[in-house]
Amino acid sequence: MTAPGVLIAGAGPAGSVTALLLARAGIDVRVIERARFPRRKVCGEYLNSGAVEALARLGVLAAVEAVSAPLRGVRLVAPGAPAVTLPFSRPACACARDVLDTVLLEAAVAAGAVVERARVEDVIVEDARCTGVRVRTEDGALEDRRARIVVGADGIGSVVARKLGLSKPPRRGARYAVGGHYAGFGAFDEHVEMYVGAGAYFALNPLSEISANVMVVVPKQRLAEWSRDVDAGVGGAAAALGRGVRSFEGATRLGARVSIGPLSHEVRRVSVPGALLVGDAAGFLDPFTGQGIFLALTGAEHAAAAIAQGLRDPAREGAAFAEYGRWRASDLTWRRRLCKTVALLVDVPPLARRAARGLARFPDAGATLIDAVAGAIPPQRAFRPAVLGRLLS
Ligand SMILES: Cc1cc2nc3c(=O)[nH]c(=O)nc-3n(C[C@H](O)[C@H](O)[C@H](O)COP(=O)(O)OP(=O)(O)OC[C@H]3O[C@@H](n4cnc5c(N)ncnc54)[C@H](O)[C@@H]3O)c2cc1C
Repeated sequence: MTAPGVLIAGAGPAGSVTALLLARAGIDVRVIERARFPRRKVCGEYLNSGAVEALARLGVLAAVEAVSAPLRGVRLVAPGAPAVTLPFSRPACACARDVLDTVLLEAAVAAGAVVERARVEDVIVEDARCTGVRVRTEDGALEDRRARIVVGADGIGSVVARKLGLSKPPRRGARYAVGGHYAGFGAFDEHVEMYVGAGAYFALNPLSEISANVMVVVPKQRLAEWSRDVDAGVGGAAAALGRGVRSFEGATRLGARVSIGPLSHEVRRVSVPGALLVGDAAGFLDPFTGQGIFLALTGAEHAAAAIAQGLRDPAREGAAFAEYGRWRASDLTWRRRLCKTVALLVDVPPLARRAARGLARFPDAGATLIDAVAGAIPPQRAFRPAVLGRLLS
């Protein structure tokens, strides 16, 4: 097996799109994925308008739209405040991850990327440079795979980040998510529905007229209390959060229940000589605002540009990776700030009431906030006095 230019661990949106862009640039790229596709991924499966625009830039939007459902806005039900409905100003959609991720991986393969089914178990570092990964093959053998550049696109539990010594310990108090696909919730109207309260939430994302992605996100303690009957625990939490508008009554699960946690992954930096992290592997953003796929796609665009530059001119690799790291750190810092602000606005009753009044009085400020969360405009714009200042006035 000859060594490719680039080896990518993980075929989620970040890995497949990095592979797609590098293959299109004529670079020899191999993706190593542990799962057999199509595979489920724990996710709310909402693609915000920034993600939809990224898919259009990549030339794969038509393929994704053919297997997704359009979304017009989000309905938020917060404690002690009237429900608010916020329209999206640009197209957004719901797309099951087994389908979305297969479309993106197939696009990468069509562009020339090679896929190997194996689990990355370690990284190879020689003379302070990452020169490959150690994989467990389908036959159970442990083998080395070398490349000029290794990409860790292996998600929230990134082995590449951990083995390179880049992962920070998980944040204390991080939440857990449980959910799946369900039918029988009644009618949907192309809106994501979020029911929030006491550090938890229950989210419904309509995948079709009759089926929805359902996620219940709770503190770890709550999950531990449900160990005897998780379905009953999830149903009880959803009924309490749904406040009589939505509950699991009459709903039927389609396929397996999925869960993940702790919802936390932070890294010290996103590259070392010879290796770079992208997507969730490069830092996880709380899923409440649904920006992860957008970040995976835009991160892949920036990462692919840095990798291509490093391969063209190895003397420039350090500078290109450092520039990618600065972009990522700045973008993620602002998005984390925005997430925390939105979480406070919906979860603290006096703030939720004030924000609901502000949204009714200043719809333009609400639209800017939604556009910032949806990746349509830079996140910093939400922090202008004309936006958050007005909403809380
Ligand atoms: C509960 C929850 C709800 C969410 N809801 C939304 C939402 O509605 N909208 C949104 O935009 N984002 C959402 N997100 C975030 C979104 O799912 C992620 O940000 C996105 O999947 C990141 O893509 P990725 O390619 O970086 O990683 P992933 O999608 O996790 O892909 C990583 C890939 O790497 C593979 N892999 C992992 N380890 C190895 C290994 N050792 N060897 C080989 N392969 C490996 C995995 O099998 C997987 O295919 C949510 C996340 C959670 C947890």
